Amino acid sequence: MRIVDLIKNSDKTAFSFELLPPLKGTGIDKLYNNVETLLEFDPKYINITTHRSEYVYKDLGNGMFQRSRERRRPGTVAVAAALLNRYNIPTVPHILCSGYSRKDTEYVLLDLQFLGITDLLILRGDKAKHESSFVPEPEGYSHALELEYQINNFNKGLFEDGSPIKSPGAPFSYGVACYPEKHEESPNMDQDIYWLKKKIEAGAEYAVTQMFFDNQKYFDFVERVRKEGINVPIIPGIKPFRKLNQLSMIPKTFKIDLPQELAAEALKCKNDDDTTALGIEWSINQCKELIKCGVPSVHFYTVGAVDSVKQIAKNIY
Ligand code: FAD
Repeated sequence: MRIVDLIKNSDKTAFSFELLPPLKGTGIDKLYNNVETLLEFDPKYINITTHRSEYVYKDLGNGMFQRSRERRRPGTVAVAAALLNRYNIPTVPHILCSGYSRKDTEYVLLDLQFLGITDLLILRGDKAKHESSFVPEPEGYSHALELEYQINNFNKGLFEDGSPIKSPGAPFSYGVACYPEKHEESPNMDQDIYWLKKKIEAGAEYAVTQMFFDNQKYFDFVERVRKEGINVPIIPGIKPFRKLNQLSMIPKTFKIDLPQELAAEALKCKNDDDTTALGIEWSINQCKELIKCGVPSVHFYTVGAVDSVKQIAKNIY
């Protein structure tokens, strides 16, 4: 069943979460523990993020450095397959423009099809750390929309060079990202929604939001996109606040605001345990209001916060 159908057919607000593949060499057991911590809440699907390779410099000890490209978190496809196989829960690997040529993407699609994984989240991906703005790979794409076109063609039985696929498999369905507080590179919200609409018209069946801590931003965004004729589910993405340093890290990294009430309460916290408790309480209130207002699904960003998500889920499901 496609993600959008899983959400629509869920008798209560659907629960889902995102996991990062393990750091290279650290094994998959921690990921299994994370899934098992959250299994009791009946996750409808699990997203697996993708991380582009970055340049690293190895000190050769003779005053010289060797530059190479490294993927710190490889394994998105394998993790998606391992979790599907072990828990029989649909997995949604993230497919990026960033760091991938169209041929690379084609090989990923072939692997996924063989594995029976046909739900994707289509994203441009973050820029490389050494670049000041996003630079596509040679023979790659600048925007998620172009990746959608490649996947649509693949679904129609065409490789990226236009040649026919002899035996096309099950088609892919997919969602995309959206930003209640605007994507950082967009000149304004109207322009950002213009491109979101293009992504939906191209075939995205739902959109998952960037994290937000102020529900009003989500409600205003949904009202605005509906006026523009975007009618797919807009799935709220919730991240539990956990550490005092996130007061500056979250706005810096994700280009979103933290509400003054949350910031003021965080400043009263004496340690990370206090901040974690505050984050849990804040997310519970956010989720309760979102659910009361009839959101189709709540999606959790679990990085470093699986135990917080468990506490939140206990209170809302
Ligand atoms: P796009 O849709 O390409 O949009 C990027 C910018 O370009 C926006 O300002 C948009 O308005 C504009 N735009 C869009 N299409 C066009 C066009 N055709 N022409 C001109 N302008 C256009 N990053 C990772 O690296 N790995 C992940 O696993 C990952 N998972 C994520 C999951 C979610 C739910 C979210 C919200 C984000 C995630 N990100 C991830 C971060 C994401 O990759 C970045 O925010 C990235 O900068 C933008 O991705 P996008 O798919 O929204 O890009």
